[in-house]
Amino acid sequence: MFENLSDKLQNALQKLKGKGKLTEKDIDLAMKEVKMSLLEADVNFKVVKTFINSVKERSLGSEVMESLTPGQQVVKIVHEELVKIMGQGESKLKINSNDITYFMMCGLQGAGKTTATGKLARKLKKDGKRPLLVACDIYRPAAIKQLQVVGASVDVPVFEMGDKTNPVTIAKEAMKHAMKHGHDIVIIDTAGRLHIDDSLMEELVEIKQTVKPDEILLLLDAMTGQDAVKVAETFNQYLDITGVILTKVDGDARGGAALSIRNVVDKPIKFLSVGEKMDQLETFHPDRMASRILGMGDVLSIIEKAQSAIDEKQALELQKKLKTQSFDLNDFLSQLQQIKNMGPLEEILGMMPGLGGNKKMKDLKVDEKELVFTEAIIQSMTKKERTNPSIINGSRRKRIAAGSGTSVQRVNQLLKQYDEMKKMMKKFSSMEKMMGKKKGLR
Ligand code: GDP
Repeated sequence: MFENLSDKLQNALQKLKGKGKLTEKDIDLAMKEVKMSLLEADVNFKVVKTFINSVKERSLGSEVMESLTPGQQVVKIVHEELVKIMGQGESKLKINSNDITYFMMCGLQGAGKTTATGKLARKLKKDGKRPLLVACDIYRPAAIKQLQVVGASVDVPVFEMGDKTNPVTIAKEAMKHAMKHGHDIVIIDTAGRLHIDDSLMEELVEIKQTVKPDEILLLLDAMTGQDAVKVAETFNQYLDITGVILTKVDGDARGGAALSIRNVVDKPIKFLSVGEKMDQLETFHPDRMASRILGMGDVLSIIEKAQSAIDEKQALELQKKLKTQSFDLNDFLSQLQQIKNMGPLEEILGMMPGLGGNKKMKDLKVDEKELVFTEAIIQSMTKKERTNPSIINGSRRKRIAAGSGTSVQRVNQLLKQYDEMKKMMKKFSSMEKMMGKKKGLR
């Protein structure tokens, strides 16, 4: 995500970081590079101009010039101005507490509308809602079927009336259906076209007038850069959208759309779709995004991911085990499984401070197969071996390797990893004891 932009911005700012004093010329040079990076990232030129002017003006002010770490101050300003152009704070979905909430999903064909509809339904369902999906795309062959497949994968029902009924009628009937069946959220999947055309817009306007949606969410393909911004301008003119879901952000190395939309259309980005799987939808936080772009990491998002993937009861038990040093291979396995629940490791590593923008990260493909091998090896051990790995001698190792379809080397490697982890934990717990004693002395 945004690797090219991230690399270039960090390079430009790196040159300022080491200096004890900055001159106007230093700032000018750096800003030229920042400007180039933004334009190359396909950020709207007006947005770039405003951004550079603000950063420059603030950088020449006393907060930087009189600072002992002027380079750091400029980075801070760049961060703040990035947040500003993306819109301050998270923009939450409007959800009615006493009435059915209606969402209308719109966008060009292939933008990822149907996929995101499923993701949103999954998310709302997890929050305790009872969503209903509505198939209003009667033109694209197989669109209804696709929505049904997506709906089934997240266990959310789909309302459809085939492809012979007018979409406005379908929407009306869906409203009655939702009321009758106790749904509290209705997500309408509308038709897309390859290009914007008047008849599509008129149909969408008619659906809007009928349903009076609480949110009109526009799906935009991030990889199309400024074209996405143009699409947003047109949809907004017709529909007065309430927010944007930016899709395919996982494949967007530049970030031009993400950085321009708020400023050009004045509508917030609410979510990022970052992959084809149903759980790959992230809430958009401008400040966290700015931190990721500048290589400061996004620790808050990692914590949130961990919280949703990790079972709290298990975590407490683990803590107890660490203290008593009874951490065995069963625990090791369950730790690995929980890490897997957090999603693709590359995605998580990309959010780590100092790793996200790191060039080496691009070559570092995390091999998820390794995890599968590890699981297979541990599952091929007996209960006794898992709780007391020290009994695993040469012949046991051979048996485990054969049972898991791996090799003795792999089994050895895993046992070594486990030993290292145990040693590390021993250190932690003795450090904790020492700290405890010191506290007691005071
Ligand atoms: P629609 O025509 O707007 O309904 O688009 P679809 O939901 O059918 O998506 C079009 C294609 O893009 C499909 O192959 C999806 O799997 C893919 N897709 C959708 N969202 C994402 C995303 O966030 N990342 C990636 N990599 N692919 C996506």
